[in-house]
Amino acid sequence: MDYQALAQLLFPHVTETPEEIEARYPRRELPEGAVVTRMAPSPTGFVHMGHLVQGLIAERMAHQSGGVLFLRIEDTDAKREVPGAVEALIDAMKYYGIRFDEGATMDGDNGLYGPYRQRQRAGIYHVFAKQLVLQGMAYPCFCTEDELSAMREEQEANKETTGYYGKYAKWRDRSLEDIQAELNAGHSWVLRFRSTGSIENQFKFDDLVKGKLTITENDVDHVLLKSDGIPTYHFAHAVDDELMRTTHVVRGDEWLPSLPFHIQLFKALGFKLPKYVHIGPLMKMDGNSKRKLSKRKDPELAMMYYTGEGFPAEAVYEYLMTVLNSNFEDWRRANPTDDATTFKFSPKKLNPAGALFDYAKLCDVSKNVISVMPAEKVCNLVLEYTREYDPEFYAELSADPEYAKAIFAIGRGGKKPRKDLATWKEAKPYMSFFYDRYFDTEAAFPEQFAKETIKAVLEGFLKTYDPADDATVWFDKVKALGESLGFTSNMKLYKQDPTAWPGSVADISTFLRIAVTGKSNSPDLYTVMGILGADRSRARIQAAIDRL
Ligand code: GLU
Repeated sequence: MDYQALAQLLFPHVTETPEEIEARYPRRELPEGAVVTRMAPSPTGFVHMGHLVQGLIAERMAHQSGGVLFLRIEDTDAKREVPGAVEALIDAMKYYGIRFDEGATMDGDNGLYGPYRQRQRAGIYHVFAKQLVLQGMAYPCFCTEDELSAMREEQEANKETTGYYGKYAKWRDRSLEDIQAELNAGHSWVLRFRSTGSIENQFKFDDLVKGKLTITENDVDHVLLKSDGIPTYHFAHAVDDELMRTTHVVRGDEWLPSLPFHIQLFKALGFKLPKYVHIGPLMKMDGNSKRKLSKRKDPELAMMYYTGEGFPAEAVYEYLMTVLNSNFEDWRRANPTDDATTFKFSPKKLNPAGALFDYAKLCDVSKNVISVMPAEKVCNLVLEYTREYDPEFYAELSADPEYAKAIFAIGRGGKKPRKDLATWKEAKPYMSFFYDRYFDTEAAFPEQFAKETIKAVLEGFLKTYDPADDATVWFDKVKALGESLGFTSNMKLYKQDPTAWPGSVADISTFLRIAVTGKSNSPDLYTVMGILGADRSRARIQAAIDRL
């Protein structure tokens, strides 16, 4: 075969050489050991946890080593592309603190290794495709869809591996004349790789997450360029990661079956193989067994879910760190206020089988994260959240931000801060009683107490209530009030024999709490009344007396 003639026939428009292209993408001047990696999403419009996990690992590896993280848009499948998808992805990554040094941005590209959108790189792929043809390592295939399905059916009927290989690779050794005839007839073609691999051969390969793998050589003549001249993922991966000087490929392990082909392709193109970090899928418990998080079944796969629920970005980030690196939690305990990025992240500690997603654990982590935020920050984030998801509540909060801030300050700042909130969505049920609009004026009192007793407590409280009292005096008055009605203030004795008294000071507090907050659980009542103010507290107690 005259490869020169074939290359000319297929790529008459290509005049550049691979060397010329390579020269446009100089080696990066970076410190020893610096990781250059990328996120390479397809713009399908669905931003999910897998993206964030990949982004986080890649970002940590790059920036921890003084390297580079870039964003490349893999838009070779125009059919799956959704308008606005790139922007949504960039937004989401930014929200979670994934910072790109170069690549696709909201308005164009930034960096010297672009273009960073694959459709804009068609000309580049063709230069390398032509080179492979010249070297006899790629050839055009004119098989129609029908022919390919007939082939698959035959293979299935024979219980053979499906694919375009061996004797099924109909076009691998066709003559220049045959090819010319097809081209003259205007038939469309794809460019295929001429595999010299054999499934009889195996070799060892080291993956940074999966460890030592035994890989069987690829013998399939995979497609490099589709009939529209756009590359497949495989070919674009090799060309782009070579030219963009990627040192580490962080990607989902659904690509592991393609790895033998990728290794082969890098070799055929004369490219240095990057290191691979194949991340396992996100799993969850379903009954007693683990399964992959699914787009259809699990809303928590979508990043939109976390913004909708109101998980702070830091909490999601922190949670992922705990899931991805098992020593993160110990580190966090030892360094409670340090920025999570000062933790030494290690891809080697990733679970090769995939991380187990645990919603309850996410809520725990989030409670911790929120509990150490200053009240002002909590207030601002809740305002931000409600502005988008609960405009009515937003209007209440923003009418008096100082009042809201005082509520968020309850139990904050000490050694053992309260852990009331896991999400911003929970802020409303937690604090709505502070707002008359949501205050439950019908809340029920415990039924085992006579209405008269409850009334006597509330009336008695109003008689001596003085907002100037400090917490101790306030509580002493509550105790004295209870005792005057036969209730004990000695909780220890009460617990030993509750039948000896009509109730304890805890019940007295409950009556007051229900009258003031409409709930039997609330933060410290003295503090709550301080924030509500004497007038509103009195009015609520009086209203409770009136309805008893
Ligand atoms: N576009 C591929 C994907 O979304 C990228 C895989 C990779 O990072 O190489 O799965």
